[in-house]
Amino acid sequence: MTLIPHIPVREIYTSFNSPINEIDCGEKCAPHNPSGKPFCCDICEAVPAVYRQEWVYLQEHTNLWTRWRGPECGSGPEEITALHADTPENMILLACLGPKQCQREYRALSCRQFPFFPYISDDFRFLGLACEWEFEGKCWVIENIDKVSLAYREEFIQIFDELFSRWPQEMESYALKSEEMRSVFAKRRRRISILHRNGGSYLLSPGSERLARK
Ligand code: SF4
Ligand code: SF4
Repeated sequence: MTLIPHIPVREIYTSFNSPINEIDCGEKCAPHNPSGKPFCCDICEAVPAVYRQEWVYLQEHTNLWTRWRGPECGSGPEEITALHADTPENMILLACLGPKQCQREYRALSCRQFPFFPYISDDFRFLGLACEWEFEGKCWVIENIDKVSLAYREEFIQIFDELFSRWPQEMESYALKSEEMRSVFAKRRRRISILHRNGGSYLLSPGSERLARK
């Protein structure tokens, strides 16, 4: 079993609370989802995963979350088993009450960071924010990355700096994800948008990791 350190869940939620931008982006994307929900709040589009430490905290404080079972989205036993098998052992799949009954105070870290993840370079530096590329074409924020607020970006960097200092293994899992993104984008012959920790916005070449300012 991997070492799972203590993480200060309440402090993380309090310090990572700025909106991504000035508008309610859910109103932009929900009309394009047949379910009528924002894509990131539709558990049939994105099953929320939380750290085990968060799950302990959430169970004590809110009724917003329950364990994800699968059939609510029509998933069959094989699909459910595969998704659980793909979930890192330090995380648990959950289902929330849905956007109409969301309790913003108890949104998971995965809700707050969406549609971004910390991009880790090949030489193991946390460069900044990269997009969950599977949601391109669905998530309005990804298509309007230049509108992401500076406050949100700064909080994101601060929270993951703190998390990685307590939990270096978690940085390794994002390094693997970043590597996967480089591989996908290299095949597509596309550069990767990075909201850099220095405040700038860049396009990163997946082969060389050269950065070009936008
Ligand atoms: S972050 Fe993206 S998917 Fe989520 S509500 Fe905003 S636009 Fe929709
Ligand atoms: S907890 Fe709220 S923000 Fe998170 S997925 Fe559910 S409805 Fe969306």
